Amino acid sequence: MILWNQKPYHSFDYMLRERFGEKVYKLALDGGATCPNRDGTIGTRGCIFCSAGGSGDFAGDRMLSVTEQIERQKAQILKKRPVYKFIAYFQAYTSTYLPFSRFRAQLEEAVRHPDIAAVSIGTRPDCLGIPAAQSGGSEKICCDPQILDFLSSLNTEKPVWVELGLQTIHEHTASYIRRGYPLSCFDAAVCELQKRGLETIVHLILGLPGESRSDVLETISYINHSHIQGVKLQLLHVLKGTDLAIDYEKGVFSVLTQEEYLDLLIECIACLDPEIVIHRVTGDGPKDLLIAPLWSCAKRTVLNELHRQMKLRGVWQGRDYRP
Ligand code: SF4
Repeated sequence: MILWNQKPYHSFDYMLRERFGEKVYKLALDGGATCPNRDGTIGTRGCIFCSAGGSGDFAGDRMLSVTEQIERQKAQILKKRPVYKFIAYFQAYTSTYLPFSRFRAQLEEAVRHPDIAAVSIGTRPDCLGIPAAQSGGSEKICCDPQILDFLSSLNTEKPVWVELGLQTIHEHTASYIRRGYPLSCFDAAVCELQKRGLETIVHLILGLPGESRSDVLETISYINHSHIQGVKLQLLHVLKGTDLAIDYEKGVFSVLTQEEYLDLLIECIACLDPEIVIHRVTGDGPKDLLIAPLWSCAKRTVLNELHRQMKLRGVWQGRDYRP
């Protein structure tokens, strides 16, 4: 059995300690961007699961500057534990979907903060300034072509990571969730990010309506071969005010039980390339918005059970991975 500091998978915490030599915390920031899937450019209602907060429900106050958001969140964390290094995570909506000068100023402000060890940017592959003809994204989306080269130059000062919300490789599910870009667009973005040495983290959702176990494992196999460095494996959450909640209440689909989720998650981890860092193994739905599955609120219990089951079944990350 392979362990990464007691855990049967290559966890984000493990990677951070190896890389920075100490505990590092992520600060969720809101740079004030919107999203082309919400502002009418390619859609108005967003991805079917996305909350009104643009999947940034825990992010800072967008009315504050980047430095103010960092200082405010640092102060909260320091009340509970001594931590001296942080990751500035531009989480809410589509962080690169801003006028380029504003985006650049925010990133420079974050990178030059003395307590920031790395920057992570949540965005869409069609919002990195890659021409639509090359990526297969929408021609209606206008993002500055300098974005990637700028991130690449910033990456020489401090690590810059780019987080892409792929969720699934299957076009039928992508269409149901209204992701708004084809798989080829993700491939083109990863290729451009890798050319510039920018680490890429992919968000996947387990338990999407209509997806079978083998559909999910196909997605895992695909990202194993996509030259990405990290993955977030997230449980599908049904949040208030989303169109997904309407379908859930109509009985169009059901959510996974804890046992079903852990079975699927353990299979995914067993098949995942052990070099890929797992940034998340559950979901972080805001409790006041969460409709289902309510068992996911007991995050510590879910994690303990995951570790117990993996040990019991003799599973570790990459056990079933074939390069
Ligand atoms: S791309 Fe992100 S912010 Fe935009 S609608 Fe989808 S989940 Fe929400």
